[in-house]
Amino acid sequence: MLEVRLPVLRQFVCDPAKYCEGKSLCCQNHDTPPGMNVIDFYRLSRKTGQPVTEIWRENGTVVPVLTQGGWIIALGLRHNPCPYLSNVPDCAVHDSRPLNCAFFPFSVFLTRRDQLPYYQRIYPCIDGAQPTGGQIRFSAKLLALFNELGEVEVKYFWQGIDPVIGEMNTNKLGSLLKTAQELAPREAPHAVASIATAWELYLSRLRIHQAAGSQGPVNLEGFFHQIVGSALYALCYREFAARLSEIEKFHLSVFAALNDRIVAIFRKYGM
Ligand code: SF4
Ligand code: SF4
Repeated sequence: MLEVRLPVLRQFVCDPAKYCEGKSLCCQNHDTPPGMNVIDFYRLSRKTGQPVTEIWRENGTVVPVLTQGGWIIALGLRHNPCPYLSNVPDCAVHDSRPLNCAFFPFSVFLTRRDQLPYYQRIYPCIDGAQPTGGQIRFSAKLLALFNELGEVEVKYFWQGIDPVIGEMNTNKLGSLLKTAQELAPREAPHAVASIATAWELYLSRLRIHQAAGSQGPVNLEGFFHQIVGSALYALCYREFAARLSEIEKFHLSVFAALNDRIVAIFRKYGM
């Protein structure tokens, strides 16, 4: 008898109960902290009624992002776990969630295909899934918007800052952490806890690695996100708070107009 086997792919569906034990893994995992745009702070502010600078103080961080030109810094959201994951697995700010949250896991399908096997190991919801046409169109719209937002952000926020971190060797990381540990208690208290969590994460990765008798390097990307991000947050906290406050005072109309377009895209695709 002829046996025909066709590859049967699931559509991508976010179903925490089925795929991540109801834990919303992508909202907690150290490998996927969302980089934030300034507009994301604005959207969260609209949703929660908190001023942007208060959100930055309580929930912000800095995320090192690997690009083709090397590591650069982006604004970020605490992720250990995310403060808006108040009622696991539900996001308390779902309709105003950061664009990178809405972009997951389509970002992996669209822009990080080379890392797909790695993400599939961590997130069962991605394994064997493929996004629908509507989900692909939604994420393509977001991708186009990211480019536009980048230009607006450079004009209103990043002016005069070189975001490239460059190579991070042990000496540089050591001195960065030393400065951050001195600054964090008075500048950015939650960075102290994040730095401690990063060390725990590092040690647990090492233990798992050794217990499994694994050869080769340990995957430290999550640790790098956590520890370098926390240290940079402590260092940049004051400067970035001042810049966000300027935007809040003088340029809200620009961000309100951008947000209207984002809301329209979310509505159109039911996301
Ligand atoms: S996207 Fe995947 S990992 Fe994230 S909450 Fe949904 S099922 Fe869980
Ligand atoms: S903002 Fe919402 S979707 Fe994004 S990480 Fe937090 S809980 Fe998850």
